[in-house]
Amino acid sequence: MAKKIVAGNWKMNKNLQEGIELAKGLNEALAADKPNCGVVICTPFIHLAKVSEIINHNVIGLGAENCADKASGAFTGEVSAEMVKSTGAEYVILGHSERREYYNETPEILKEKVDLALANGLKVIFCIGESEAQRDKNEQNAVVKAELEGSVFHLSAEQFKNIVIAYEPIWAIGTGKTATADQAEEIHAYIRSVIAEKYGAEVAADTSILYGGSCKASNAPELFAKPDIDGGLIGGASLKVADFKGIIDAWK
Ligand code: PEP
Repeated sequence: MAKKIVAGNWKMNKNLQEGIELAKGLNEALAADKPNCGVVICTPFIHLAKVSEIINHNVIGLGAENCADKASGAFTGEVSAEMVKSTGAEYVILGHSERREYYNETPEILKEKVDLALANGLKVIFCIGESEAQRDKNEQNAVVKAELEGSVFHLSAEQFKNIVIAYEPIWAIGTGKTATADQAEEIHAYIRSVIAEKYGAEVAADTSILYGGSCKASNAPELFAKPDIDGGLIGGASLKVADFKGIIDAWK
């Protein structure tokens, strides 16, 4: 059975003090009312070390939103997977459509990042998903399959156990447009079938496949009720404790 997970992606929001307040608030809320799923918060790099000291890691996992495609050295401004791990973080988001689009992250670059993240003991939340134009042409299945083949299907089955997939249709991210639960389930089931073809039914059944794209407390229960949706990757609604907790509570 795949682990159920609700993961937050803070993106480039919250200064250090605001981030600390948010992490403290979430930690307190989940200490008072234990979640029924795994919870992860992925923060900007500068928050990681401090947030790591604040949260109860038995309840809240910590992740970065990116890491470098090089191990170390003269790469000014970059942050390596080893550095991320040394903060106490356990996860890293890779392949987010914003990084693919605005920072030209190709499948080859992402493959390097995935390898370095795993080599440093991080779990990877690997994002895939089609644009609106691709969905209009009914290309979504081919797009997600190619994204998996391009950056994670070189892994062994043992390594692949450290990959969480986040299906995020680009047209639903930050737009208020959510995929319907049926639309999301259809492609999640397809993604699981592609993983099963590559790694076998057992690995596929154990892989967490999260939905992301304007997920909120009001639509999470319907999405999470689907058999192939194992939780969510949450952007905007992860920035307030009450909103994020509302989504976490969808698993109750
Ligand atoms: C995201 O970018 O990972 C995301 C799902 O954003 P939002 O929830 O704001 O659509």
